[in-house]
Amino acid sequence: MSSNRAKLLSSALKKLTKRPTTIMEVCGTHTVSIFRQGLRSLFPEDLKLISGPGCPVCVTSQGEIDGAIELATRKNVVMATYGDMMRVPGSNGTLGELRGTGSDVRVVLSAMETLRMAEEMPHKEIVFLAVGFETTAPATAALLIEARKRKLENLSVLCLHKRVPPALEVLSKADGNRVDGFLLPGHVAVILGHEPFKFIPEKHGIACTVAGFEADEIMLALVDLLEQICENRPSLTSRYEKAVRPEGNVKAVDLMDRVFDTSTSAWRGIGPIDESGMSIKEEYSLWDGSRKFDVAVRNVPEPNGCRCGDILSGTITPKECPLFGTGCTPVTPVGPCMVSSEGTCSAWYRYGRKG
Ligand code: SF4
Repeated sequence: MSSNRAKLLSSALKKLTKRPTTIMEVCGTHTVSIFRQGLRSLFPEDLKLISGPGCPVCVTSQGEIDGAIELATRKNVVMATYGDMMRVPGSNGTLGELRGTGSDVRVVLSAMETLRMAEEMPHKEIVFLAVGFETTAPATAALLIEARKRKLENLSVLCLHKRVPPALEVLSKADGNRVDGFLLPGHVAVILGHEPFKFIPEKHGIACTVAGFEADEIMLALVDLLEQICENRPSLTSRYEKAVRPEGNVKAVDLMDRVFDTSTSAWRGIGPIDESGMSIKEEYSLWDGSRKFDVAVRNVPEPNGCRCGDILSGTITPKECPLFGTGCTPVTPVGPCMVSSEGTCSAWYRYGRKG
């Protein structure tokens, strides 16, 4: 973005911010983009951006992480997952730390890699630990369909996928909700389109704009949001037209519908949310790691002193956590918000410590 353009958009934000206004950037990639591109310096003082529950690793509950780690310690199990999960602390260590203790835990770049692993290791039980929102769930659905087609019975999925709209519903109606507008997650909207977010302005009267990740797209989305707020006409607009079709990605949604039912899921910091989880349908139960290995998900408290829960619900910023930058850093993370590259604490540590 040129400096002239930045000045223009910054002054538009200033004119439109007529009172203290709080916008939640739902997606962790937005949190990082806003910091990395120095956009905070262009915001008027009365415009406050808070992070939301948009980092998939971060919202995975402590009980789910403990359940996955316990499964990875079982005899004959090879657990495969995305890289960020390796360093997320459970109650007794991380998946990564298990690697030195005889457990077989591997990083994969795509869910489909586990098909080859299952074929190459027929005497092992390959478990894909599936974490993420509607963005990664279609790939897991495709994996389950292919595993069933190939009759690969030594492959299963421990499915911890979550759905974003139900979490936004909870945040929209929370007592003392302090959010005036949502900067909606562009990547999730690519899959879901606009429809699943329309309830936010229509039912809760909160402004919404789907945003891309370039500086220009984020600034224009903020202008859109502030116009809606100023004129008291909450609606759903988009500043990510180049990637998001209003109807979304119909094929990806169809894949998810074929394989997953909705279920209640526990979100770190928010708690159990109806219909926010994706459980594997009965006809794929042979490939459901949770049923196959009877994995228990217990109600486990946050790591001592960690305020990830409050950060994910937008109640505090990382600087308000007493461990931020002292007991908790990217090298010695206490909670998942400091582990993931999309985690709010990690973004604040890398870019926002002086701000
Ligand atoms: Fe948790 Fe660390 Fe963030 Fe504090 S700074 S909330 S301990 S991840």
